Amino acid sequence: MPVQPLVKSKPSSAVAELPSLGLEAEDIQADYKRHFNYTLGRDRSCQSAHYAYTALGLVVRDRLMERWKNTRRAYEESHCKQAYYLSMEFLLGRALGNAMLNLGITDSITEALHSLGLHLEELVEIESDAGLGNGGLGRLAACFLDSCATLQLPVMGYGLRYEYGMFRQHVENGFQVEEPDHWLRNGNVWELERPELVLRVRFGGRTDTTAHDDGRLKVRWVDTHDILAVPYDVPIPGYRNGTINTLRLWKSAATDEFDLEEFNAGDYPEAVAAKNMAEQITLVLYPNDASENGKELRLRQQYFLASASLQDVLRRWIWTRGRDFSDFADKNCFQLNDTHPSIAVAELMRLLMDEQGLEWAEAWDITSRTMAYTNHTLLPEALEKWPVRLFEQWLPRLLEIIYEINARFLGEVDKRWPGDMDRLARMSLIEEGHEPQVRMAYLAIVGSYSVNGVAELHSKLLSEGLFRDFYELWPYKFNNKTNGITPRRWLAWNNPDLSDLISEAIGDRWVTELNRLHELTPLASDARFQQCWDEVRHANKQRLIDFIFQESGVEIPANFMFDVQVKRIHEYKRQLLNTLHVIHLYDRIKRGDIENWTPRAVIIGGKAAPGYLIAKKIIKLINNVARVVNSDPDTEGLLKMVFLPNYRVSAMEVICAGSDLSEQISTAGKEASGTGNMKFMLNGALTIGTLDGANIEILEEVGEEHFFLFGLTAEEVAQTRGHYDPQAIISADEDLSRVMRLLEKGHFNRFEPGLFDDVIGAIKSPHDPWLTAADFRSYVEAQKRAAEAYRDRPRWLRSSILNTACSGRFSTDRTISQYNDEIWRLTPISPGS
Ligand SMILES: *Cc1c(COP(=O)(O)O)cnc(C)c1O
Repeated sequence: MPVQPLVKSKPSSAVAELPSLGLEAEDIQADYKRHFNYTLGRDRSCQSAHYAYTALGLVVRDRLMERWKNTRRAYEESHCKQAYYLSMEFLLGRALGNAMLNLGITDSITEALHSLGLHLEELVEIESDAGLGNGGLGRLAACFLDSCATLQLPVMGYGLRYEYGMFRQHVENGFQVEEPDHWLRNGNVWELERPELVLRVRFGGRTDTTAHDDGRLKVRWVDTHDILAVPYDVPIPGYRNGTINTLRLWKSAATDEFDLEEFNAGDYPEAVAAKNMAEQITLVLYPNDASENGKELRLRQQYFLASASLQDVLRRWIWTRGRDFSDFADKNCFQLNDTHPSIAVAELMRLLMDEQGLEWAEAWDITSRTMAYTNHTLLPEALEKWPVRLFEQWLPRLLEIIYEINARFLGEVDKRWPGDMDRLARMSLIEEGHEPQVRMAYLAIVGSYSVNGVAELHSKLLSEGLFRDFYELWPYKFNNKTNGITPRRWLAWNNPDLSDLISEAIGDRWVTELNRLHELTPLASDARFQQCWDEVRHANKQRLIDFIFQESGVEIPANFMFDVQVKRIHEYKRQLLNTLHVIHLYDRIKRGDIENWTPRAVIIGGKAAPGYLIAKKIIKLINNVARVVNSDPDTEGLLKMVFLPNYRVSAMEVICAGSDLSEQISTAGKEASGTGNMKFMLNGALTIGTLDGANIEILEEVGEEHFFLFGLTAEEVAQTRGHYDPQAIISADEDLSRVMRLLEKGHFNRFEPGLFDDVIGAIKSPHDPWLTAADFRSYVEAQKRAAEAYRDRPRWLRSSILNTACSGRFSTDRTISQYNDEIWRLTPISPGS
């Protein structure tokens, strides 16, 4: 892997100056044949779809490559300011379709493949999702990269190249079963290994302080066990603009020294086997969404990402500018995606002081003008705290720096609020106690010049609650950046028929200027346009029906209302409330209350963290209720329920295009933003939802007439705590009492006695943090309004069109423009100019 430089050879510059590759069908066909026959060495006897996909992937990759190099050169030559998006997760999904769309070569490729007797739709399905993330946070990072490239902003993503991504989910006897996701098994054409750029990351050892000749103290971190960080670059194409940005993912590898020491002791096989230890760091993604489990391997992953990425940026700086860091902060910015990479604050201090010889004051000035932090959740269990003990063991030098940051910070607090000991204890980066811990969110706030939430309500709750003390100290640091989704993947690519219909009506500039969708508003009541809209949505629904059948074996009639909740399974997202409603509908059917019935399929999909037992129990309940509902002849033509296994990005592409009703029913104040809500809206689904996260902004855009609002507000939720009495609510509500009785008498677990006792207990507990019973009645009423609205076709279609028309605000192009205008301040660079 260490790369030998050429010594005698002088490569001619002509090597790098090839003619551009053609984008016509005939050019593509010729290249396809070349890759199939020569790069991959296959012949006509090879029937494997895998090689056809790979050959096509290489054809597309070649066309990214030249634009990629041009973009890199344009950034280097302009000496522009750059931003770096540091994230433990990038939930990219598939790359092929997105690359074709953004290059604008889908038609030529379809034509080329056609004359080769191949079908694009079939090849697209061969690609495994790059599932390097859990849910919303990781998908947001992927949408952000797409928008940065489309806006031609010099932004680079930094993440980890997990060997195993998000687990694949199966259902056995109604239970979730996890299977490892070895997504790289069949190779990955969408990455380029860069072994010449390998770096070293240190762990363990101890610190050693010596006095310099001039009296200054010099700290050295010694006796470390180093691990190599090998970069793999993933191209991120902008939309038809010649820009290809880079996502750099780090893979861990062993150094050769490991072997040597033990080799001399005669333990060669043991020494080689010890390589495993090092390669473990980037082996697997932790499958916890919005909660931390404090495992030491996770801390090592976080430091590995932060250290490798910062070293990489500093190395490039030194190559191009030398060791003068005076304007480093004016030219670089790091956006921290949640607290996961926040050790970067201390690591940048270490690199600037210990490796570059800067004084504390200068290093701190640079660090605190370079870091910006995005918070993603208010849930206390998601706030990362790492035991001081783990830092002592793995990152002793970083701990010293954190203590020093804390001492200086607390000095500042004491100056502002003299003698306020409670406040000092509350704000300290170190939580004292039996097992002292480092509060990573506080480290991120203290070290950053910007702290943002991800929807208006969320940002407000952050400054009033969780981070109130910090808001009082530094109000100017706090701001909001409401999340978004990229309209390239989430409309132009996943829903080509609706895209064509929209473009025929208003032109195609909406793809990069999503607010133009407002031009659909006058068409919302147009009978002709409604009919076209209906036809497209019907075809998408058929596609979803086929997908659901293929994944779950359940058949759903096309005349049903598709009522869909797909997202991670979590108590705060309240898949349980949805299930109670299904039981209620089933109960109504059983007692013959079916006048003016709207046939409905309730579809729920999502993964539960493997250690989150109650979430897994909810999956089991959904599956048991589905079995009872679907096998009862009385529900025929009226009601179906499906648990859709293995929810993932490529599944969502089909799901959001074919759904009627989008379930966004979290307990108010708990969902930071949500982005699934935006994908459904953009594709013309109506929302049933609480006043939570970005739902509030969706409602603001589309209006109450086209949104089924229910439930307590965040303020009411807060007021209810302390005197919540679910038993009284249940007794006072005949429908809810009947639902609870069905559950309690074991109607859905006839042969599995007691299985759902914990779930039932949670609903009835006065300490239920999610207030499921409190919102039941208002949820059922909102569902009735939705069912009624669905039966009025013109009305529903009008609302559907208006949902799409009003979704412009939720483009990540808008989100990223705000990050850039208010936090990063980068100048767009066009590689063509
Ligand atoms: C959009 C998306 C999410 C986020 O969904 P929420 O409803 O906002 O929680 C999670 N997983 C996948 C695969 C997604 O595409």
